[in-house]
Amino acid sequence: MLLTISTTHQPATDLGYLLHKNPARCQTFELTFGQAHVFYPEASDRQCTCCLLLDVDPVGLVRGKGNWKEGLLDQYVNDRPYVASSLMSVAIAGVFGSALAGRCKDRAELVDVELPLTARIDVLPVRGGEELLQRMFGPLGYHVIATRHPLDSQFAEWGEGPYFSVELSHTTTISRLLQHLYVLIPVFDGKKHYYIGPDEVEKLLAKGAAWLAEHPERETITRRYLPQRNSLVRQALARLVEEELVEHEDDSVAAEESSSPQAERELSLHEQRIGAVLAAIRASGATRVVDLGCGEGKLLRELLADKQFTEILGMDVSVRSLEIAHRRLKLDRVPERQRERIQIIHGALTYRDERLANFDAAAIVEVIEHLDPARLASFERVVFEHARPGTVVVTTPNREYNVVWETLPAGEMRHSDHRFEWTRAEFEAWANGVAERFGYAVRFLPVGPVDAEVGAPSQMGVFEEATRNE
Ligand code: SAH
Repeated sequence: MLLTISTTHQPATDLGYLLHKNPARCQTFELTFGQAHVFYPEASDRQCTCCLLLDVDPVGLVRGKGNWKEGLLDQYVNDRPYVASSLMSVAIAGVFGSALAGRCKDRAELVDVELPLTARIDVLPVRGGEELLQRMFGPLGYHVIATRHPLDSQFAEWGEGPYFSVELSHTTTISRLLQHLYVLIPVFDGKKHYYIGPDEVEKLLAKGAAWLAEHPERETITRRYLPQRNSLVRQALARLVEEELVEHEDDSVAAEESSSPQAERELSLHEQRIGAVLAAIRASGATRVVDLGCGEGKLLRELLADKQFTEILGMDVSVRSLEIAHRRLKLDRVPERQRERIQIIHGALTYRDERLANFDAAAIVEVIEHLDPARLASFERVVFEHARPGTVVVTTPNREYNVVWETLPAGEMRHSDHRFEWTRAEFEAWANGVAERFGYAVRFLPVGPVDAEVGAPSQMGVFEEATRNE
């Protein structure tokens, strides 16, 4: 099974840097189901083509751990070695992992460059015909040339089979092209060579986050990507909608590291905020804590450093923030005992989520102002009715304080993604309403230096489940 990727970008050999594969070499990679070979049949300044050749071992597939429930592969004779399927996606992720993730070690500036690219899939089993190919790749901007193969060239009367040779051309980034191939190849085939568990949702969202939410066929894609797992399909679709809603936020999050409002940075307000939240959670006696909208994990790091907390969960809707958190907390390197205490998960605060149940305390730090006001009601139920931790600590900016910051133009909010910023009275009215409706008591604390007139820059509400103190 052969996949080729070509470009006429000048110099075309940039493709080698982008794919992290030297055009001068032929390389072989071991995969659980066979081997992948990478080589370049042409590599000049004007034209460069990289080939990914999969050499699938059909006998190993059947005898190995691969879980082929459908019976097709109970036989040693099958089409797997000859068609692009989920095996190809595994190979793309394994062999071109950096390019897929949008990284380029030697030429970072190339990552975001849109290049004229053509991908050729030698044989793609398309259950749905050419029309499906157009419906899937068309909206993404590809020019599609599909050639259908007869079932058997010696017996024309048998008609045409499900197999196509497909050529896809588009000016896009290499990472986007690989994401499209990774997600869509198994969608045409509709068979997966492994058990489809919840982590498939993560894979789909990680590779599809940037484009799937807007794809008119997102339902079909999700359904076929997660065959026979309706609950996962629903979960993925619900979360895709969230991704779409916060998409521009995702961009701002990366920038946020340096773009915290200037005034806030001078005051190091965020550190004070994390300190105040931590103190409130410690004082509650909680041992199991969830950080909702954990962002890049600043609070998680503090929680991890305190042995009082035996179980720590971070959740955020932004995959990119979670990746940064994972890296910053060095989660793949911490000792096992530490590792068992902490988990970070992808999820949205506006959907009921079983994983949030049974925590003693929840922190929601500078998150509510990112929610659409129309979604606050579902957020309230998710946190205070369903997850229902004994203690909930919420912080949000105090709009009144904005006048103190000369660099912030009058009437503007502190961050481009804030949907609202509340005065103290507005926050307290909301929080008192929540407390009353859901059976909590709430107290308020200022965060940062208090100005006599306009109060402190940030405000914190500490909710305690009322029944606990009775
Ligand atoms: N609590 C972190 C991050 C604050 S920035 C800190 O104090 O450093 C706001 C965070 O809320 C972002 O990481 C954003 O991705 C997250 N967020 C926004 N809407 C969300 C939603 N509906 N569900 C979960 N997280 C959300």
